[in-house]
Amino acid sequence: MSKETLKRAFADNLFYLQGKYQAWATPYDYYMALAYTVRDRLLHRFIKTMSTYFEQNVKVVCYLSAEFLMGRHLANNLVNLGIYEDIQEVVASAGLNLDDLLEQEHDPGLGNGGLGRLAACFLDSLATLEVPAIGYGIRYEFGIFHQEIRDGWQAEIPDKWLRFGNPWEIPHLEASVQVKFGGHTETYRDDKGRKRVTWVAERTVTAIPYDTPVPGYNTNTVNPLRLWRAEAGEEQDFNFDAFNAGDYDGAVASKMSSETISKVLYPNDNTPQGRQLRLEQQYFFVSASLQDMIRNHLRIHPSLENFHEHFAVQLNDTHPAVSIAELMRLLVDEHGMDWDKAWYITQKTFAYTNHTLLPEALEKWAVDLFGSLLPRHLEIIYEINFRFLEDIKTWFPKQPELLGHLSIIAEYPEKSVRMAHLACIGSHAINGVAALHTQLLQSDTLKDFAALWPEKFINKTNGVTPRRWILLCNRRLANLITEKIGGDWLKDLSQMRKLEAYLNDQEFRRRWREIKYANKQDLAAYIWKHNDIEVDPNSMFDVQVKRMHEYKRQLLDVLHIVALYNRIKKNPNVSITPRTFIFGGKAAPGYFMAKLVIKLINSVAEIVNKDPDVRGRLKVVFLANFNVSLGEKIYPAADLSEQISTAGKEASGTGNMKFAMNGAITIGTLDGANIEIREEAGEENFFLFGLTAEEVAAMKAKSYNPMYYYLTNPDLKAVLDRISSGYFSHGNQEMFKPLIDSLLYDDQYMLLADFQAYVDCQHEVGKAYADQERWTTMSILNSTRMGKFSSDRTIREYVTEIWKAKPVKIELEEYSQEKAGLRVPS
Ligand SMILES: *Cc1c(COP(=O)(O)O)cnc(C)c1O
Repeated sequence: MSKETLKRAFADNLFYLQGKYQAWATPYDYYMALAYTVRDRLLHRFIKTMSTYFEQNVKVVCYLSAEFLMGRHLANNLVNLGIYEDIQEVVASAGLNLDDLLEQEHDPGLGNGGLGRLAACFLDSLATLEVPAIGYGIRYEFGIFHQEIRDGWQAEIPDKWLRFGNPWEIPHLEASVQVKFGGHTETYRDDKGRKRVTWVAERTVTAIPYDTPVPGYNTNTVNPLRLWRAEAGEEQDFNFDAFNAGDYDGAVASKMSSETISKVLYPNDNTPQGRQLRLEQQYFFVSASLQDMIRNHLRIHPSLENFHEHFAVQLNDTHPAVSIAELMRLLVDEHGMDWDKAWYITQKTFAYTNHTLLPEALEKWAVDLFGSLLPRHLEIIYEINFRFLEDIKTWFPKQPELLGHLSIIAEYPEKSVRMAHLACIGSHAINGVAALHTQLLQSDTLKDFAALWPEKFINKTNGVTPRRWILLCNRRLANLITEKIGGDWLKDLSQMRKLEAYLNDQEFRRRWREIKYANKQDLAAYIWKHNDIEVDPNSMFDVQVKRMHEYKRQLLDVLHIVALYNRIKKNPNVSITPRTFIFGGKAAPGYFMAKLVIKLINSVAEIVNKDPDVRGRLKVVFLANFNVSLGEKIYPAADLSEQISTAGKEASGTGNMKFAMNGAITIGTLDGANIEIREEAGEENFFLFGLTAEEVAAMKAKSYNPMYYYLTNPDLKAVLDRISSGYFSHGNQEMFKPLIDSLLYDDQYMLLADFQAYVDCQHEVGKAYADQERWTTMSILNSTRMGKFSSDRTIREYVTEIWKAKPVKIELEEYSQEKAGLRVPS
């Protein structure tokens, strides 16, 4: 790891892997040469980590997730290996700039938003805490679409992230497994006379694993992220009969259809689409992952009876919940285990994380579709359900209504498999992702299960990794922190409290402000480059970045902008705190209302940004293609963090944590983890407004009437009327009518009920920002008090309370050819 060696490796890789001299090399060639240099340094840690897990026969955490939103790898790997500064020098000595090379990496978007990013933060913490762990998922050929803004509207561009190669993955064809689909089942008697079932599938798909090494921070542990790619099964690879008959398309038709399984990520966030391909994706990666675990287990154990002692499998939402039926099938049908023993092992193996309170987001599969794709799994689910409901009848003979509430099978509106019910019944632990969320699961969404098994329910408030979300994205701040309190905070974020000793140190406060200002200048330069809008780093950066969704209420933010604009139009000399409103976020391509809100933001921006009356006091910016790497530029530059979801709708949020760690102050509702952020930061350092979850539910119960607010609040009326008038849409009064109508006649998410409280609270925010000393204190305290929201804390809780796994130290010897088993000719 000496600089000399790194430098030589960098030059060698440019020549031998990219096939270039310096004179011909593009920035991408340099990036690839550097990436391979870093990957080589990960590999012997990676191999040592895997062999240690084998030799020491440890318990391994398997994190099953349909999404891993990892973000770029290079900078993170430099940070975690502790060679960032050295590489910066090496690159500089070649006359290059490290930041430019880092920008060459295509951000791998194998997730939609918070759920996928959580999985990525968890992998970082697992490796950092030296916990044996594997992330299992799908290697989508196309990740989340690239978003462009055209004429104010979202346009979706396919994400061809693999086009120029991916230096971080290593395929293992030798470790491929077969995954079956369709067909029917047959019963037979085995040699002991037991009735057994076999599944005669209609087709087989090959699952090929691609491993990406995930290093911990300042440890030798490098855990695998194992993503599966679908390839046509051998017999369908190529239809020679069709080929010989001149049918060239037909010769590869079945190959094509098998390989679509890992083709593309579904771009929906918090709204499942009941499509067959999606169920195929889920079963595909779950079956491959469980077969992989079983194969590894049987290499060192004679049987599967202790499987649950060696694997803890976490289900990240219900996307992988079909695992429960698949493990039962593998144990009972393929390995001849008795049902009861298999069921015991299955329940001990799995734990389930719920991610949503939105009823429409709970996954259901029509029984017909499920049975045609997975006939044996449907039988197994019926058997699980039958046995479970028999127990319920015995335990609660006087409550027959419980059977319908708890059954895995829903009868209305169509007969379907409720995946959350399967997950609850097949798991030993069920967790929500913030205190309020877990409480609402128990009192509402999953209340019948909570009454049945209170001991299974447990809260695990989310967290984010301080390595990526402070050290990597805000080096200025990280350097200041380390200068004052040393570097231990990176592994124990609660140490940040030590910085409070400097709260009244004028020099420290000045530097704190300078860092925020510098981050804002950087973002202003990005905005100028990408949006052609000039923004003032002295104005308050008021930011809402997250997936576009009605429950997140980006529209409420826009109503506030228009309210401020109206005040200026009424009195151009009114005193207001200058603000730059920054938005970012993708809308699901089929989500009409969310896409219309993007258009509205851009339409308001067009008018407000150029209105001479405004005199630059309000600027509105929509940054296209919000993703992890854009987040890394935005979170550190924010003054105000908008966390304004309808109370009771956001499970946790993690963006809220990233903002606060980087010194932004939150304006938010009592929803998700906002509640706990406010508790930690102190209520005087948080701008709270709006209805509580209880008040929302109570108002809905006695028929909520949004029109009342429109008719009685003149400011609100003026805001909606200005939008309706076509003022922002070149006179077109139809364009935003669907948004206005949904507010006036439905307002499912209670924007109008919260409007005035939000505007009033924003007024307080404006006053606080104008008092820079007060703001600085609030900013420092938000950042120093976020220790709880390190994903290290979250993972420690999962490890001790759910997974019962133990950290394992990886002892590292220097790499040598002898140790790698290679003979060196003398
Ligand atoms: C953190 C993050 C999210 C989640 O943001 P919320 O505000 O919690 O919804 C979504 N997308 C990306 C790219 C993120 O980094």
